[in-house]
Amino acid sequence: MTPITSFAGKRVAVFGLGISGRVAAQALVAGGADVVVWDDHRRPRENAAASGLALKDLVMSDLTGFDSLVIGPGVPLTHPTPHWIVAKARQAGVEVIGDIELFCRERAKIAPKALFVAITGTNGKSTTTALVAHLYRCFGYEADVGGNIGTPILSLAPPAEGRVHVIECSSFQIDLTPSLNATFGVLLNVTPDHLDRHGTMENYAAIKERLVAQADHAVVCLDDEITRAIAERLRRAGKPTTFVSITDPAIADGIVLDGTKLLRRTAGHSSPVADLAGISSLRGSHNGQNAAAAVAALGAHGFDIATVQKGLSSFPGLPHRLEEVGRRGKVLYINDSKATNADAAEKALLSLADIYWILGGRAKQGGIEPLRPLFAKIVKAYLVGEAAEAFAATIGEAIPYEFCGTIDKAVESATRDAEQSRTPMPIVLLSPACASFDQFSDFEKRGDKFRELALAKIAEKA
Ligand code: ADP
Repeated sequence: MTPITSFAGKRVAVFGLGISGRVAAQALVAGGADVVVWDDHRRPRENAAASGLALKDLVMSDLTGFDSLVIGPGVPLTHPTPHWIVAKARQAGVEVIGDIELFCRERAKIAPKALFVAITGTNGKSTTTALVAHLYRCFGYEADVGGNIGTPILSLAPPAEGRVHVIECSSFQIDLTPSLNATFGVLLNVTPDHLDRHGTMENYAAIKERLVAQADHAVVCLDDEITRAIAERLRRAGKPTTFVSITDPAIADGIVLDGTKLLRRTAGHSSPVADLAGISSLRGSHNGQNAAAAVAALGAHGFDIATVQKGLSSFPGLPHRLEEVGRRGKVLYINDSKATNADAAEKALLSLADIYWILGGRAKQGGIEPLRPLFAKIVKAYLVGEAAEAFAATIGEAIPYEFCGTIDKAVESATRDAEQSRTPMPIVLLSPACASFDQFSDFEKRGDKFRELALAKIAEKA
């Protein structure tokens, strides 16, 4: 844990007692703050009380006299409307911050030079976060990973020399971190998402921009319009920035993807960095973007290309994101359960060929309509869950499909068909383009089920 000594003696209210809120309260207590906690729901309040935290009914109390209100990232700060606790804090003139802000203030106090890499973007945050940490470990650092990826930042060891904190930041978290000042701030991409919580695209983009604008060194990918505009503003402001591109290998300076090769561009000249060919955890150009950005976040270490190549090649990848489960003969099973919408499934279809595609679940708006141009890559589709009828209608005559109902049945049928293939590496792919909630509690459970079924199929033949 990172005790927040910079708040010693201060009065702090913590609202929203999910895991990160609870850990924040404990870290504040450990640092000597006077802390009370509350949540709209009874269960988290009970958990907090059981862990020794002091409950105070904030509905009934005035926040005057508190120095800060710390809220969890799930508590609306602005949209659709500020949560009542936020309105109350504003009325009382109390600052509203999150757990990453506590970390930043503590780092500024105890170890301002300790390496801190903050990563954001609409897509690819978790993969890049895990990869940056993996690469730093290859360079001998102790790398602590947290934030939006799942582990609360304050449950990690305190910032210190020789240690790097690699933190995935959602826009909600950035919004609660006014003094976010990473050593390297990484912005991957900005596409429409979460507009329900941020109101407009401008607001959503402006929040993400702050992560790079306030970093010592910015890393910005130039592959969409919004990030290009942000990069231009950073350039004009003279911010030290490494540009990254997977769409234009001819940029004058930065790190680019050219085919499967990562190159460093310096004043228009290229030098090799690494080759991603054959690295199964980094399939697809989207992962090329993640890899290029991760190398950029290594700063000077990125010039040690032998270690960088070794690091990229040994990256185990994250579960449920184009995760290679294993082979039954020549049939390869890939678990991409994290693909809960068409955009994410598109990345899988673009990265693979000869696909026996398991899809369906609870459909998102637009369904699989945007994937139509990629149907040619699919040998056959296996439809599961609520979306099956609608997806069958979209597919029409384009490719053969089968109604399977459940993933069990789909794995069975897809395996049977893939084994008949005459091609060298047929792929049974779960990339559902749907939420999982009609049949599973979350995408992890769905992916775990697929992995279990695939492993059983592999064992059956071994
Ligand atoms: P996040 O943490 O931002 O949700 P993940 O690393 O978990 O991102 O990847 C989630 C999905 O987003 C992947 O399954 C893939 O389909 C897609 N994705 C990953 N990286 C990128 C990228 N750089 N650009 C676009 N899409 C990506």
